[in-house]
Amino acid sequence: MQTEVLLGVTESVCPECLKRIPAQKIIDDDRVYLVKECPEHGIFRVLIWRGKPAYASWGNQKIPSTPTICATEVEHGCPFDCGLCPDHRQQTCCVVLEVTERCNLYCPICFADVKQSVKADPDLAVIESWYRMLLASGGPYNIQLSGGEPTVREDLPEIIRLGHKLGFEFIQLNTNGLRLARDPYYVEQLKEAGLNCVFLQFDGVSDEIHQTLRGAALMEAKVAALDHCAKYGIGVVLVPTLVPDVNISNIGAIIRFAIERMPHIRGVHFQPISYFGRYPDEPPATRMTIPEIIQEIENQTAGQLKMEHFRPPGGENAYCSFHGNFILMSDGELKPWASPQATKCCAKPGVAAEGAKNARRFVAKQWSAPTCGNCGDDGSTERTDRNNGINTDSLDAFLEQVNTYTLAISGMAFQDAWTLELDRLRDCLIHVVSPDGKLIPFCAYNLTARDGRSIYRKQAAPE
Ligand code: SF4
Ligand code: SF4
Repeated sequence: MQTEVLLGVTESVCPECLKRIPAQKIIDDDRVYLVKECPEHGIFRVLIWRGKPAYASWGNQKIPSTPTICATEVEHGCPFDCGLCPDHRQQTCCVVLEVTERCNLYCPICFADVKQSVKADPDLAVIESWYRMLLASGGPYNIQLSGGEPTVREDLPEIIRLGHKLGFEFIQLNTNGLRLARDPYYVEQLKEAGLNCVFLQFDGVSDEIHQTLRGAALMEAKVAALDHCAKYGIGVVLVPTLVPDVNISNIGAIIRFAIERMPHIRGVHFQPISYFGRYPDEPPATRMTIPEIIQEIENQTAGQLKMEHFRPPGGENAYCSFHGNFILMSDGELKPWASPQATKCCAKPGVAAEGAKNARRFVAKQWSAPTCGNCGDDGSTERTDRNNGINTDSLDAFLEQVNTYTLAISGMAFQDAWTLELDRLRDCLIHVVSPDGKLIPFCAYNLTARDGRSIYRKQAAPE
């Protein structure tokens, strides 16, 4: 008996040659596959959704918004015209600036194309030109300083200061945390420059996990980095890359670790491994999809966090991410911040650009350190009885602590050459500034063929 049903059609690329090819979404019971055929390289079939919530129930409609400024024309078709081009359906929310290709840790898995010997870092004048391009393109936006490993730069505080001076309110640092662990003075300088948030690579609570994924036992360094961020009042989001057979069973432990270190830890942002950068092999069939992560969160928190507490995004394409917001109560329990009823509102089509603006505001508020009088500014990450979760003694106390003791749990499933859906990509709101000053949706910028060839990463900066 045939159980497979055609759910819809889209376009993708061939993982071998990156040519644009038609694709079908096929549903078989609770699994959804992307199936595509390249005339030259054959058929590719990859799992994109497995389990509950059901694929069809997760979608939400948006009224597309064209980019504020289009730097490129539609010439070759998506994904080859990024700039952004007029076919893009979402405005920018968050911009990634790759401020170096250098790194102080050579992970077996890595998004960025870091190498041992690299070209010179973009200097401050180049970075200023990127900031100004963003202002001329509808900014300011939320900024992610990324790399390589941005903390290898001595002038990172100046880059942050310059961004704030030009009007960028929220600046986040993507880091492995090694420099933050061993150099508290550097952390202090980053804080003085106005750094709002550290997005800390954090794959689990054991050295074995870090050893497997990053090639080193890093737990002590992660804790030291967290202590220094707490001391200087910088909000931290833990960012685990989820790899089957390595750290999926650590999801609950990571969330508990984050709860213990609230309010300085502001969120946990899970990223199932995607296969680009230095990982161009054919992906294993055990790829982790969004519903499976949500299910693991429910299972590994003994049902304290439930599937219905998580919602699709309002900004990017619904199938790119999930999020749930929680408040820590005085008994140590996490309670959902939005009621399950609120989930139903997502069925209403919204204007895409409004979703991007809301996402920008939410991230800037939630991921920054709380401005409270009782969150351990002596540097301690231990909570006292006085500040252990929500104080409900009075309405004022309640409202103040609602702002402080919230934890955002989210995840994003990046698209690689196997899973790429151009419909999803056109809705992207996370954009990388290329060396030649164009805005490239993150998944297009990092897209590689199986042999590692990239569409956008190799573009040289103009002389
Ligand atoms: S991803 Fe967006 S900007 Fe890039 S080619 Fe497609 S529609 Fe244009
Ligand atoms: S970065 Fe990729 S997964 Fe995230 S919103 Fe953009 S297209 Fe979707």
